[in-house]
Amino acid sequence: AGEVRFDHVHFGYDPEREILHGVSFTVPAGKTLAIVGPSGAGKSTIARLLFRFYDIQGGRISIDGQDIAAVTQQSLRSTIGIVPQDMVLFNDTVGYNIGYGREGATQEEIEAAARAASIHDFIMGLPQGYDTRVGERGLKLSGGEKQRVAIARTLLKDPPVLVLDEATSALDSRTETEIQDVLRTISRRRTTLVVAHRLSTVVDADEIIVMEKGRIVERGRHADLVRAD
Ligand code: ADP
Ligand code: ADP
Repeated sequence: AGEVRFDHVHFGYDPEREILHGVSFTVPAGKTLAIVGPSGAGKSTIARLLFRFYDIQGGRISIDGQDIAAVTQQSLRSTIGIVPQDMVLFNDTVGYNIGYGREGATQEEIEAAARAASIHDFIMGLPQGYDTRVGERGLKLSGGEKQRVAIARTLLKDPPVLVLDEATSALDSRTETEIQDVLRTISRRRTTLVVAHRLSTVVDADEIIVMEKGRIVERGRHADLVRAD
């Protein structure tokens, strides 16, 4: 489950000023689509529309064939997990941060859920463990570790669809590579939409669409697009 489809989607934040001019793509269940292009091209807008933050002015957006206009926000939130650009963590332990959304989750419960969501290795990759505090004074986690915690929080809900919005852009290049390796592993069994600035960060995507000014100007696999450069 988890096929995501945009059919001739037209949208403007201001209906007088259209931002997306008929965008169409299909992400088959379990596959990864990367959306690349310059700033202002409409990449984040696509991600926001999937969550139905705004109504579209034309076309159709569907998940597993169902028009999202007919789906509740609550149901969409349980279907789609988002890994945000800015990872905001609670001034508490790693365990608390990962378990947020599961009331009073113990380390054992979190670990069981992590195994169920096939992210156990990912969580265990945190060197300092669950009782490390992430906040102000006890700032012991690196940027990459904090990103792992933020990602784990999303993955623990085991959403069939994952949206990564420039999830690694704020990290140094070594950490970025490491997180990308992790994301590659976890995105293998989920429908994943990756928003990225650069083609070089989405080598493994099943399909890449290149956006410019609200239109898809190219699509293909990484090797095809690099050749066309
Ligand atoms: P990208 O993610 O590719 O950088 P965005 O989807 O954020 O592009 O933005 C696409 C266009 O929509 C830009 O012209 C941007 O200024 C405009 N835009 C984005 N968010 C809003 C908003 N909340 N209200 C009005 N215009 C917006
Ligand atoms: P991003 O491309 O990462 O979404 P932006 O700098 O485009 O970041 O947008 C930052 C915030 O400002 C977003 O919440 C976006 O919705 C809003 N925004 C962007 N462009 C506009 C705009 N032209 N008018 C109003 N809000 C905007």
